[in-house]
Amino acid sequence: MGCPTATYLAASGIGKINLVDFQKPELSNLNRQIMHFEEDIGKKNKSDSLREKLEKLNSSIKIKSFSLKVDENNISKFKESDVLVDCLDNFETRYLLNKFSLKEKIPLIHAAVEAYYGQITTIIPGKTPCIQCLFPDMPNKKDVFPIIGPICGVLGSIEAMEVIKVLLGIGDTLSGKLLIVDIKCMDFDTINFKRRNDCPVCSECFS
Ligand SMILES: [Zn+2]
Repeated sequence: MGCPTATYLAASGIGKINLVDFQKPELSNLNRQIMHFEEDIGKKNKSDSLREKLEKLNSSIKIKSFSLKVDENNISKFKESDVLVDCLDNFETRYLLNKFSLKEKIPLIHAAVEAYYGQITTIIPGKTPCIQCLFPDMPNKKDVFPIIGPICGVLGSIEAMEVIKVLLGIGDTLSGKLLIVDIKCMDFDTINFKRRNDCPVCSECFS
């Protein structure tokens, strides 16, 4: 989802964008990571490859690329951010990003995809539930899972729209709501969810 989200944010003129990824593009990524091309496979880092494309799209904004795996030691690099965007493929880093968002009081757009399905919510620290209110136990890690390319485009576009709404303070965001998308049956459902009293992250940050 990083490719569509960052592309729409760059095209919209979001002034500063930090791209974080430590991996290199692979052939099996190209069905959805549409800003990486065949010529990039195995050569550049994904964050550099995406930055180069976005700089050609909009030369008037500042884009930085970080070739790193986010962990507890380096995540503080991003505490000046106005919004965080979760385009991750694992809950381990997602939990870390969630905790960082709440501690630093930086809004976080969370999205996840698998196969034909996607989910997205907007977390406003101190106001809405967090990712661990929604998923108190870390889902089992899958080393390999299928992704139909367009689901990343759908969810990534919605993530970009949520970022723009949070930054501009316009419209209604998905705060406290989880949008569940099934593009196989073309169902879009929204459910409300609440903060859990026993959520360890909310308890620590907002006790
Ligand atoms: Zn929570």
